Amino acid sequence: MRTQVGIIGAGPAGLLLSHLLYLQGIESVIIESRTREEIEGTIRAGVLEQGTVDLMNQMGVGVRMMKEGHFHEGFELRFNGTGHRVNVHELTGGKYVTVYAQHEVIKDLVAARLQAGGQIYFNVGDVSLHDVDTSAPKIRFRPNKDGELQEIACDYIAGCDGFHGPSRPAIPQSVRKEYQKIYPFSWLGVLVEAPPSSHELIYANHEQGFALVSTRSPQIQRLYLQVDAKDHIDNWSDDRIWSELHTRLETKDGFKLIEGPIFQKGIVSMRSFVCDPMQYGRLFLAGDAAHIVPPTGAKGLNLAAADVQVLARGLEAFYKAGKTDILNRYTEICLRRIWKAERFSWFMTTMLHRDMGHTPFERGIQLAELDYVTSSRAASTSLAENYIGLPMEF
Ligand SMILES: Cc1cc2nc3c(=O)[nH]c(=O)nc-3n(C[C@H](O)[C@H](O)[C@H](O)COP(=O)(O)OP(=O)(O)OC[C@H]3O[C@@H](n4cnc5c(N)ncnc54)[C@H](O)[C@@H]3O)c2cc1C
Repeated sequence: MRTQVGIIGAGPAGLLLSHLLYLQGIESVIIESRTREEIEGTIRAGVLEQGTVDLMNQMGVGVRMMKEGHFHEGFELRFNGTGHRVNVHELTGGKYVTVYAQHEVIKDLVAARLQAGGQIYFNVGDVSLHDVDTSAPKIRFRPNKDGELQEIACDYIAGCDGFHGPSRPAIPQSVRKEYQKIYPFSWLGVLVEAPPSSHELIYANHEQGFALVSTRSPQIQRLYLQVDAKDHIDNWSDDRIWSELHTRLETKDGFKLIEGPIFQKGIVSMRSFVCDPMQYGRLFLAGDAAHIVPPTGAKGLNLAAADVQVLARGLEAFYKAGKTDILNRYTEICLRRIWKAERFSWFMTTMLHRDMGHTPFERGIQLAELDYVTSSRAASTSLAENYIGLPMEF
């Protein structure tokens, strides 16, 4: 089969790119290693930057998000038993923090692609990339994991296959430079059947570690606890989780955390990672395939959305005017913004988590940082500006 752009991965990056290209009259085919049910059921991100929300609306895929999403004007930083609100709306000139789960974004995008006649092959196996440094790259895969090997001949390949996919390794190791930081802690995340304990997100720094309160719907809450990077979920009974959440979230004025049945729990590791370049020949990496941030800054999905806007704009210039200047500068344009999001995610992570190896001096500095960002208007503005998402610069 032949298409203009072969896309590997139906995560936010691959689906958004495919639909952006469709809106510009550019053909694409997506291949995805998991089933539709699996991608639509995986619980991950929940916080959307204003730019991602605007993009979804411009693309005509934001109707359900605007109806069912939650629009917050700020969030809380909690430390020393006291909450401090960061009024993002006021500090950024009227922008909102939107809470709408990633799997809902996926559902909306898959529906839009299929409704527009888009081709998505789910549940494929043995995906490989070929001739990416020529003008005729190819992707091979097996439909339904064990079918006959098929080939997609295309002009360009978009590697949107997440951190563990085959696209990044298709850039020769001699060309790739990788930057990485692994954190000494992980997040234990639970889904709880309960009404919200707080209207807005709460990021808490406590002597015993970080905790986060977030909401998925009026009936479902998403709560996180910092745990040791080597910890195992079997060590965490529901009772232990609740006891730890109550301790880390308590305030001097008696905050009440509403409990409910925990129906899902798991541990995710924390990593910062950047691959440079993000392009090799006719292969372009987008989203988690090229970079990872710890979830504390809520940037991962949003960075994926930003990358594919640059890529779609570059491909549009190529197909409509034969121009390759944006495609040639893809790595440079994307990495400029990505490094700033990496910095912010690292900053939020280091400010909010307890590093048990810290000296009392380093702990003092951490609390001073929290005090500064919540008491200085200049520092709060910088925090809010980064949290809501920095502008795209071409
Ligand atoms: C617990 C948690 C909380 C998070 N919270 C936030 C948040 O609040 N805000 C935020 O912005 N981000 C958050 N993130 C990060 C966010 O989920 C990711 O950054 C985002 O999913 C990246 O999108 P992507 O399309 O690049 O990659 P992915 O979503 O990983 O999609 C890649 C797709 O490629 C497929 N694939 C892999 N290998 C192959 C192959 N060989 N062939 C074909 N397909 C393949 C995968 O199955 C997958 O569907 C969070 C992540 C986690 C884990």
